Amino acid sequence: MDIKYSGPVCEFEVAGPCGIVIFGASGDLTGRKLLPALFELYKRGRIPSSFFITGVARSSLTDDSFRTVVASAIEKVAGKSSDQKIEEFLSRCFYVSGQYDDPETYQNLKEVNNNLTKKFKTEDNIIFNIATPPSLYGIIVKNLSLAKLVNKGQNEAPFQRVIVEKPFGRDYDSAVALNKELLSYLDDEQTYRIDHYLGKDTVQNILAFRFANLIFENVWNRNFIDHVQITVSEELGVGHRAGYFDNSGLVRDMLQNHMLQLLSLIAMEPPSKFDAELIRDEKVKVMKAIRPFKDISSPSTIIRGQYKEGTINGVKEKAYRDEDGVSPNSSTETFVATRLFIDNVRWEGVPFYMRAGKALKEKKTQITIVFKEVPHSMFVKDIKENPLEPNVLIFGIQPEQGVFLKYQAKAPGSKMCLYPLDMDFNYADVYGSELSDDYETLLLDCMIGDQTLFWSKKGVEVSWNLITPVLKEWDKSSFEDKKIKLFFYEAGTWGPKESEEFIKKDGRKWIVK
Ligand code: NDP
Repeated sequence: MDIKYSGPVCEFEVAGPCGIVIFGASGDLTGRKLLPALFELYKRGRIPSSFFITGVARSSLTDDSFRTVVASAIEKVAGKSSDQKIEEFLSRCFYVSGQYDDPETYQNLKEVNNNLTKKFKTEDNIIFNIATPPSLYGIIVKNLSLAKLVNKGQNEAPFQRVIVEKPFGRDYDSAVALNKELLSYLDDEQTYRIDHYLGKDTVQNILAFRFANLIFENVWNRNFIDHVQITVSEELGVGHRAGYFDNSGLVRDMLQNHMLQLLSLIAMEPPSKFDAELIRDEKVKVMKAIRPFKDISSPSTIIRGQYKEGTINGVKEKAYRDEDGVSPNSSTETFVATRLFIDNVRWEGVPFYMRAGKALKEKKTQITIVFKEVPHSMFVKDIKENPLEPNVLIFGIQPEQGVFLKYQAKAPGSKMCLYPLDMDFNYADVYGSELSDDYETLLLDCMIGDQTLFWSKKGVEVSWNLITPVLKEWDKSSFEDKKIKLFFYEAGTWGPKESEEFIKKDGRKWIVK
């Protein structure tokens, strides 16, 4: 369907004056995501000229050599940009080298920041973005507090806010401990726990779609919906993050965070207003209502897979166990499939099938809502014998971003032949380049002080509480046991055949658009 957007352009909020300190400034995330996002915000005028960036890391860089790193990071992602904008941006980038646990690093940082605050008139507003390995989150926040760079409760202007990356903990106990540690130096309102999935327009559109359109919200329940599928598939294997991943696995890396966030947006009740706290509370209520896993040791509850060598888009992919940094006997899962139920009035009995994997056939994140079959039809003799394909609604999150509805229509011709058609709304067709990157959205939100798209303390703990028994059971399983329960799949496929059988046993099949 051809839709052209002719409505008002949504005004983007513009951040006020502020400085940003990035810990782990020599790292992968900083180069691939944070710096390009900050530049894009600057270029589009969403952050003002009263702004600076201080990179902090152990690598010994000068301001100038850091600017070379920044320039190349921006160019890799955004291509060549106007010289003037780049120069302006680079002239606001500075660097402090030091150990993360050394008080001297923080004294140096304080001195540099004090000068920059005056020079760029940032009115003492500051954000500390911690993009280091998670083991350093607590150490950095403690030292920021000791150096009085961060003072507990300072969330309003002049604000001092802290962004922490995922993973937030490795299980329930460590997430609770990390919350406790951070919150002894910060208020929860100052703590921004990132889940970059929530920064995607398509993810946020789930709320608009559900709660701003009467026609959908009325059928959004167990009376009309047969089941929901959430697929997060990646084409890439673990690549350069193998070392981290082998110690983590897909249940931790995807299911506990991104996938439960998507589920909660699909399943939550509408809050009375669009307010960060109310929205985050509703999401927590859904997560609390998810039925705890039973028979966690059984593959009829959870399927774990690991990729063998294969071919993805004509390129050979080596087996997971042959990746650099992965133990040759590793039983870490690179694929997971499971089924969740939400025990509340809206969703009782509706399965939510979740699957995620690496080195799969395509990169695709989709949420599929499969409606019930029509109970009777004048178009077919016996609906039981000749069921009509049900309506299917798909939220494309990435790479294709949009909403697609499958419905029955009459095919051209004299006979009444029915044929399923797609009604497609594709974000890129309608809004073109107006789409902003997830990190742009999240960094801007933090500067503005909007917590809606960040994990709450309760949310993080409730989600780990659900997932931790699954992790513990796997950790305590013997190698022999894991051998039986880990299903291998060829890279470049849709995962182990056991995942197809898993959903087939319920009379359903995985759907990808
Ligand atoms: P890196 O491994 O690239 O680490 C970032 C920086 O931290 C490094 O440049 C290094 O800087 C410092 N560092 C690394 N290891 C150590 C160590 N053992 N002790 C002290 N300092 C160390 O991480 P990423 O940039 O990939 O990720 C940063 C954070 O973001 C992590 O928590 C990660 O989980 C999260 N994340 C990353 C994503 C990504 O795509 N990269 C995606 C989603 C989340 P130096 O040696 O100069 O001090």
